[in-house]
Amino acid sequence: MTSRPEYRPGTAVLVVRLEVGNPRGGQWCPACKAYTGFAVDLLVLQTSGVRVLGTAHGCEICDDTDGGERG
Ligand SMILES: [Zn+2]
Repeated sequence: MTSRPEYRPGTAVLVVRLEVGNPRGGQWCPACKAYTGFAVDLLVLQTSGVRVLGTAHGCEICDDTDGGERG
C-alpha cells in the first residue's frame, strides 16, 4: 500500500520573487567620507503586487571584495 499526499487542485501557491532595483550611485559614505556609496532597492514580487522590502546600502570602497575576505 502506498500513501501519497493529498493533492488539492486549486490550492494557491504563493509565488514570491526577489528583485533588485537599479543601483543608485553617488551616495555619501560616512566611512570613506566620499560619494562612493550606492543604494539598491530590494523588491518583492508577490501575486498581490510589488512590495518594497527595503533599501540596501553599499560602498565601492568599503565593499571591495577584490582583496579577498578579511577579518
Ligand atoms: Zn565607503
